[in-house]
Amino acid sequence: MTALLSVRDLTVTYRTSQGEVPAVRGVSFELEPGGSLGLAGESGCGKSTMANAILRLLPAGITTTGEVLLGEEDVLTMKPGRLRAVRWTGAAIVFQGALHALNPVQRVIDQITEPIILHKTEPDKKAAEKRAVDLLGQVGIPANRAEDYPHQLSGGQRQRVLIAMALACDPDLLIADEPTTALDLMVQAQVLAVLEKLRAERQLSMIFITHDLSVLTYVCDRLAVMYAGRIVERGPSDQVFERPTHPYTRALAAAFPTIGDRESRMNPSGLKGDPPDPAALPAGCPFHPRCPDAIDRCRDAEPPLLPSGPAQEAACILARP
Ligand code: SF4
Repeated sequence: MTALLSVRDLTVTYRTSQGEVPAVRGVSFELEPGGSLGLAGESGCGKSTMANAILRLLPAGITTTGEVLLGEEDVLTMKPGRLRAVRWTGAAIVFQGALHALNPVQRVIDQITEPIILHKTEPDKKAAEKRAVDLLGQVGIPANRAEDYPHQLSGGQRQRVLIAMALACDPDLLIADEPTTALDLMVQAQVLAVLEKLRAERQLSMIFITHDLSVLTYVCDRLAVMYAGRIVERGPSDQVFERPTHPYTRALAAAFPTIGDRESRMNPSGLKGDPPDPAALPAGCPFHPRCPDAIDRCRDAEPPLLPSGPAQEAACILARP
């Protein structure tokens, strides 16, 4: 099957007073039509930078190299007009923190209608408004709230408005960047259920970003774990979560109790220390200062991503089948 999205050797470098800082380092992956990929990792591992790089949303002055093929077109070399069209009709993003992502002085119906009118995906304003109300209904917001301003809605409702807005022009790919992080557990579950329903109904491809591995196993078919700007493990979600082969994935998985397992507890001896400063990565495997399994050889060279199980890959010299 032809990939909907092919990210090839993507590198993102920030220019700072400390010099050039690599935020994403040579990441490659593919996403099939209707497929879903979960990106996990601690804050600062490069996952949100990568999401923004895929849609070229990073500010000027940041260098992005590699290829981001949406179908057969490279997003990184698209002309501005084509890029504007692709951002809504080809791929759309749901940001975290809906209160900041929505315009506080515009009614939600107008915010959803605007891209529909701009991209002419409906014949006129009346049809665009009808679509906006339909989309709100699909994410569980009743029609009588369409005229509300963002501050009149709850946090979960605002996040669902953002999802409806991202779907305004019927994109093939939805990138959800920590869409549930700021929500309490009950509302988080409602938003996840909405995303799961929409994905199944629309055959929508999705990249879902969070630090919570257990959420990703619920929503995504495949999982990629990032550390220090690289993918360090990937494979089918259930396998990566239940049988992680990279010590970092094991520590991440142990940091969350298993949903539905009453005996499951957070592992108090989980990950220690902080992620490395991207401007001064340790020599060899960047995880070695925190890795419980580290041996002398880990300091020699950064391990490549190689098979670590029947369908998994890991960047660890000890994780080989
Ligand atoms: Fe740990 Fe070494 Fe594997 Fe890195 S290469 S994850 S330090 S065992």
